[in-house]
Amino acid sequence: MQTTLNVSTGPIASPAIVVSVVVPCFDEQEVIAACHARLSAVLRSTCERYEIVYVDDGSTDGTAAHLRALYEAEPDRVVVLQLSRNFGHQPAVSAGMAAAGGNAVIIIDADLQDPPELIPQMLRLWRDGYGVVFGVRASREGESIFKVVTAKLFYWVINSLSEVEIPPDTGDFRLLDRVVVDTLNAMPERHRLLRGMGSWVGFNQIGLRYHRSRRSAGHTKYPLKRMLALALDGIVSFSIVPLRFVTLLGFLSALAAFCGILYTFTVRLFTSSWVAGWAMSFIGMLFMAGVQMLCIGILGEYIGRIYTETKQRPLFLLREVLRGPLTDARACRPGPSMADSPVPRIVDAELPPV
Ligand code: UDP
Ligand code: MG
Repeated sequence: MQTTLNVSTGPIASPAIVVSVVVPCFDEQEVIAACHARLSAVLRSTCERYEIVYVDDGSTDGTAAHLRALYEAEPDRVVVLQLSRNFGHQPAVSAGMAAAGGNAVIIIDADLQDPPELIPQMLRLWRDGYGVVFGVRASREGESIFKVVTAKLFYWVINSLSEVEIPPDTGDFRLLDRVVVDTLNAMPERHRLLRGMGSWVGFNQIGLRYHRSRRSAGHTKYPLKRMLALALDGIVSFSIVPLRFVTLLGFLSALAAFCGILYTFTVRLFTSSWVAGWAMSFIGMLFMAGVQMLCIGILGEYIGRIYTETKQRPLFLLREVLRGPLTDARACRPGPSMADSPVPRIVDAELPPV
């Protein structure tokens, strides 16, 4: 069941809850301090026990140092996961969700486009029994008309094709109950559209309509190429209708060919107007080649995904985990750590003189 509410704020009834907030960060040095200050102010006044799980998704600016300083100042409140390289937004959020120990897990971007001040209301709704409380963008400040129109088109396409309804104008700003988080963590797919997977799990869900501000600083990390990749992942992961479209096209072109054969025989046998022509057959060939290429492309999208899924590579790798003894340790084993940037450097070989 999905409902949409308007925003309201105020203290929640009981402060004794354990809440994790997951914040994916990729080159966000300009916004981290403001983000942490606003999140902490809200969480401190709302709940007694909370943790903020920052995921450094292979940043190459000062993000890692900023996050380390936050952890050192508040080791019982702040968890920092450093991924071994830039894996992308959805894997970064997945890493945070795997490490989050809260009974409720809130996902929020670092750039303060989504207001942390909504968290108390999200928690109230969760306490009322909702498994998922998702943000609905009533308006989007500072986003280009292109982005707004393509987002609308994306939700229209995906909801026309998919069996699972993904509420339009949503993002990853949402609260998830522990059961939902455990379910999503156990879903092994590599091409993840978390907002779609969040709809798929069901339970009682509710939308919270809010105004989305512009980025507080820095620039978007979602250029057109990444947006298209995410949209394609969403459509292909949640629908096999494009494959049925291929079958339909094949059927239609076979029907057209059959009509063409009938026509040819009729003209040849029963009329005297037979003219040897090449134009129609040339156009027909081009058309069929186009249809076949399109079909191969659609098949390729699915086969490519089957290929990456069968490789079973991990969704992300951890380079370093900073977490204090008081935070709820989940399975997070870091790999070899290095102080360098995650972008590979090339150094000169050092050999002893011969
Ligand atoms: N992000 C990330 N890894 C990436 C790209 C983005 O962790 O490869 C984070 C980014 O730091 C931000 C959030 O995901 O906290 C959303 O990114 P952004 O604000 O650039 O997207 P937009 O709001 O423009 O769609
Ligand atoms: Mg943003």
